[in-house]
Amino acid sequence: MSKTEKHEFQAEIAQLLEIVIHSLYTDKEIFVRELISNAADANEKLQFLQQTAGTSILDPQKSLGISVTTDDGAKTITIADTGIGMTQAELVENLGTIAHSGSKAFLEQMKKHQNDAHLIGQFGVGFYSAFMVAGQVTVYTRSYRPDEQGWIWKSDGKTGYELEAAPDLERGTRIVLQLSEDDKDFSNGYKIEQIIKRYSNFVSFPIELNGKVVNTIQPLWTKNRSEITNDDYSEFYKYIAHDMDAPRYRLHFNADAPLAIRAVLFVPERNTELMTMSRQEGEVHLYCKRVLITPKAKALLPDWLRFLKGVVDSEDLPLNISRETMQDSALMRKLNEVLTKRVLKWLEEEATQDAEAFTKFFAQHGHCLKEGVATDWSHREAIAKLLRFSSSFTEAGKVTSLADYISRMPEAQKEIYFLSASDREAALASPDYEVFREKGWEVLFLEDPRDEFVLEHLHAFDGKNLVAAAKADVKIERPSDKPPGLGAEAVKELSEFLKEAFAERVGEVRASERLVGSPAAVREPEGAMNASMRRMMKMMGKEELSQAEPKPDFEINPDHLIIQKLDGLRRSDATLAKQVGVQLLENAMVAAGLTEDPRAMLGRLNKLLEKLLPSS
Ligand code: ADP
Ligand code: MG
Repeated sequence: MSKTEKHEFQAEIAQLLEIVIHSLYTDKEIFVRELISNAADANEKLQFLQQTAGTSILDPQKSLGISVTTDDGAKTITIADTGIGMTQAELVENLGTIAHSGSKAFLEQMKKHQNDAHLIGQFGVGFYSAFMVAGQVTVYTRSYRPDEQGWIWKSDGKTGYELEAAPDLERGTRIVLQLSEDDKDFSNGYKIEQIIKRYSNFVSFPIELNGKVVNTIQPLWTKNRSEITNDDYSEFYKYIAHDMDAPRYRLHFNADAPLAIRAVLFVPERNTELMTMSRQEGEVHLYCKRVLITPKAKALLPDWLRFLKGVVDSEDLPLNISRETMQDSALMRKLNEVLTKRVLKWLEEEATQDAEAFTKFFAQHGHCLKEGVATDWSHREAIAKLLRFSSSFTEAGKVTSLADYISRMPEAQKEIYFLSASDREAALASPDYEVFREKGWEVLFLEDPRDEFVLEHLHAFDGKNLVAAAKADVKIERPSDKPPGLGAEAVKELSEFLKEAFAERVGEVRASERLVGSPAAVREPEGAMNASMRRMMKMMGKEELSQAEPKPDFEINPDHLIIQKLDGLRRSDATLAKQVGVQLLENAMVAAGLTEDPRAMLGRLNKLLEKLLPSS
């Protein structure tokens, strides 16, 4: 019989255990993840040694696996691997001292944010999480080195630990947790199965639970792309996204620089936000060497890419992460930047490859990209390349990109024009569109109330200013041999007459240089917040930001018969001429989308009709 050596924990370990045992009440189940992750590490290290020439390994044929056994009679859970194991010195070093610089930082962090169990794994103090649930932990281990014997390490997590030689052990490590009374249900196999599926499903070694392999999904992203079928990707996607449909797009990419990244990302066919009207959470999980570090890692990608599903695995994570908290570490920011750029490039490639499929993608997820343009200054231009709009040149139901729009611009056209309207018909009928139709210039038709807001934010694309059609400084050149239908003097008098009739409702009244088929139009003054912008503000509950209704200018079309007749009427029946004038203003306000309630004008319209109908 070998004798038992008693050891005391290093002071920091004692302190750490104190915190782990007494302060971490939530998320206790993560001890399963921690111990499985250690087992996977140990196996992986052995795998690595097997490939290193000249290393002699105990039992080289022994297969690499992880087994978990629960015993609810004895109230134990056992986690075993066939990996590198530990020598006596390694046991003392790894489980009795704080060997990792991160552990000290962990201690400090834990004092600041008590109860944050997520920190455990990130700070490399994972093994001690066993003491959250166990009153006694026994580690049976034997190093891969052929001339080393096995050892048993035993501790209650309080006073210290005991070491005892155990010559007969097999290679690898077996950890037995004697569960404390409060946590005895961790000896329930079903419960453990759920936990393993949740946290360790992608571990690349088979995990047996009570003799049955429970991790069915292989870590797809670690395989060679050529070995993965479309079905594999789809299955994987459905599993992680909880989706019944196959994904619309997928991206599998590996990078070595500036960071080691393996990522498999998916765009779902549908965006659930459109149905639920509530914001979804991003679902890209962060792994380090196949071990889940953070599910739904928020800091990994910008919020406007929240429609993405998938996994990112970066080997570069743990060393650095132990120095800072995850969310705002420089490394996470770097990872975010690299991923965002790659995703933008990917979406652009998809758009080029199949424009029709991309239109469908945009119909579902476009609102997130628009949000990106409005909120993410550093990626604004790149995201803007992905925006799609219908326009006066596209067929109904089809869309154009800003780049394609620019490629069609005639030389005389210097700006990109857009027009908000409830639908295509309304846009085509708008007085603001007339001058562009006349010139043959394309106008983007914005049907989504967000669009105008987004384009105002974007301001310019590829050096071309984005300008609202209603505010554009675009005129129709009048041929010199064709005088206006109403002369300058008459226009001036009619304008004064109308301005008076409108009381304080408009700023200026003048002849228009851009109307063709409409008798009149209102024009919002430069810099004013337009109607759709005000609606947006209302929708976002930011009414205080929306400025007072601006006074529009009123423009009349001297070539239009109504205007010419109105000029005649003002001389014969000034009262009726005023009523007609006010009605023209109302009509123009409706056309410009500035009228809150068009029913208000029906009374006046009826009075006009009364006068118009012959008396009998
Ligand atoms: P980390 O895994 O971040 O290094 P842990 O507290 O989880 O921190 O483990 C501490 C150390 O103990 C590990 O680095 C490893 O050297 C050793 N260890 C833990 N579990 C095992 C195991 N199953 N097999 C071999 N070594 C182990
Ligand atoms: Mg660990």
